[in-house]
Amino acid sequence: MGLPSPYEDWLVAITGAPLPREERATCHDCAMCAPDAPGGTFHPVTRCCTYVPRIPNFMLGRILADTDPAAEEGRATVLRRLASGHGLSPLGLEVVGADQAAYEKVIEEQSFGRSDELRCPHHLSDGRCGIWKHRNGICATWFCRHEDGALGERFWEATQRMLTEVERAVGYWVARRVRYPAGATDEQAADEALFNCDWGPWIGREEDFFLACAREFEALSWARVRQIGQRHLQTLARTVADRAAERTGPLPVRLRSNRADWHGTLPGDRVLAYSAIDPLVVPADLLEALEAFDGRRVPEVLAELAEGGIEVDADLLRALRAFEVLVPAEG
Ligand code: SF4
Ligand code: SF4
Repeated sequence: MGLPSPYEDWLVAITGAPLPREERATCHDCAMCAPDAPGGTFHPVTRCCTYVPRIPNFMLGRILADTDPAAEEGRATVLRRLASGHGLSPLGLEVVGADQAAYEKVIEEQSFGRSDELRCPHHLSDGRCGIWKHRNGICATWFCRHEDGALGERFWEATQRMLTEVERAVGYWVARRVRYPAGATDEQAADEALFNCDWGPWIGREEDFFLACAREFEALSWARVRQIGQRHLQTLARTVADRAAERTGPLPVRLRSNRADWHGTLPGDRVLAYSAIDPLVVPADLLEALEAFDGRRVPEVLAELAEGGIEVDADLLRALRAFEVLVPAEG
């Protein structure tokens, strides 16, 4: 379940470690389609694809250039969007008008994943994503469940912000290179023209334009992308590295129960702490005794629990902290 190339390699370079695989988000047998899924079972067809994705110009070019027969059905979904002209500009396929309003309605009615009123146009009849290899940074970083609970979610949220900025900044950069091969004298005016659908000599040859954008993109290293994205992207990348370090870093010296902020509990000793849809199973005896974590130093609390016959091993303690059943305490 890797990220699209070269995002995966860039993130490994940024974080210095392999990416979490989020194997609890079992898309082949959707974890949220189970009858007892917390918060309500997801729709068996649309699942979490109740959303129309933005596709940046260089990703469009990569999809068009992908001649793998297995990708053909997905490519056809993109060609249909291109032919409609809806949201089309030299920057790619934007989400506009009715699609944006439909998504806002899904969020407002809290029916994300549970409604088939909105379905991604690239979601194939057999449930696969038609553009999986070239999906955008939002699709690539959303998971219903996280191995490292809240710490995993925070890592992916930071990654999503960074990749979305990559897609914005690099989208403008490659479009400028293709539209103005001799260089734009006024970059701001050029960007405005691109935003306002000035195709120049590419009018009527939009697919060729996107293929050329993809070629510009393929030549970029992460170091070059960092330069293109300037200080804003560099700050976002540092946050990704910080969030990755947080996932694997040492436990806080003091922890306290976070019960007041939990979303709730479920049968089977499942606790919904940081998330309303991602539970953690906590042994029943420990669940009863969690208030012992009252901000004292962790070894002291563990010794007290052990005296009462409750053993908390290192893995369970890490999970309790990661899922925010327990949170760091001041002191
Ligand atoms: S990420 Fe989406 S498809 Fe995958 S298991 Fe979760 S809800 Fe289901
Ligand atoms: S692009 Fe793929 S992953 Fe993203 S919403 Fe559509 S079908 Fe789902």
